[in-house]
Amino acid sequence: MRDLVFGPVPSRRLGLSLGVDIIPLKTCSYNCIYCQIGRTPRPTVERKIYVEPEPILQAVKEAVERGPKPDYVTFSGSGEPTLNSALGEMIRKIKGITEIPVAVITNGSLLWMEEVRRDLSEADLVMPSLDAVSEGVFRRINRAASGLRIEAIVDGLKRFCEEFDGKIWLEIMLVDGVNTSIEELNGLKEIALSLKLDRIQLNTVVRPPAERWARAVPKTRMEEIRRFFGPKAEVIADYVGKAPKIHGAAEANILNVLRRHPCTAEEISDSLGIPIGQVNDRLRSMLRREIVREISHEGKTYFLPRE
Ligand code: SF4
Repeated sequence: MRDLVFGPVPSRRLGLSLGVDIIPLKTCSYNCIYCQIGRTPRPTVERKIYVEPEPILQAVKEAVERGPKPDYVTFSGSGEPTLNSALGEMIRKIKGITEIPVAVITNGSLLWMEEVRRDLSEADLVMPSLDAVSEGVFRRINRAASGLRIEAIVDGLKRFCEEFDGKIWLEIMLVDGVNTSIEELNGLKEIALSLKLDRIQLNTVVRPPAERWARAVPKTRMEEIRRFFGPKAEVIADYVGKAPKIHGAAEANILNVLRRHPCTAEEISDSLGIPIGQVNDRLRSMLRREIVREISHEGKTYFLPRE
């Protein structure tokens, strides 16, 4: 069974992050062409208790007591966390267990719902996405559940930014030739600069996407776009921070990392604090036994679980 609470693992944006996964794989309101965890079989906007709060709270408590101490407890993982209607209760109770700040990574598609904004108001940091402003590009890149419209989503995001007291980092995922036209970038910039944001984080397809044709924006172009978005914008760099040391190249640890997203051998090595030689040996053995498979993307080799 997959772990509902995992890590702490190094995160490109959050340093050391204790992940909390409150949604079954892969339950989401979107079916993004760039998704690292594959296609969404049936995009949905149905909010319900997909995972009960109690086992989550118990697992967070144990992980915090066990250490190492994470920089954030982060709701993310196998789908869209705001679909779980117990999200607010879980955030509130985690904050009763620990003073470690709580972050939520969300696609932002449900922020037009008052109860979703209320649930998120309990967090310290919310990281919503916005990849498009025109309905056509939104349909092409996010392939949302029926009934979701970009205009309502942008309105919800605006309301949330006005009401929320914590930090907001907006992520824009750029897919070469899909949402990188001057018109779309102008629209995204106009909205981003009108919002009360702490950071604008520009990302691109650095990991294997759900659709092979979703391509990364070249590095030099990403830098131009960063300058275009102004001083709050940053290109999310590869993780270079600290990594917890977990000894032994245990397959369970490697699989746990790969279940979150495809990784290169170097990333597994950084993530688990295992020498690269040991990781390569273990991966070769796992490939032979068909526990993992490998794919190429943007000139790098990534590993994924076969299950
Ligand atoms: S990238 Fe996020 S929002 Fe998009 S389909 Fe995957 S889990 Fe859902």
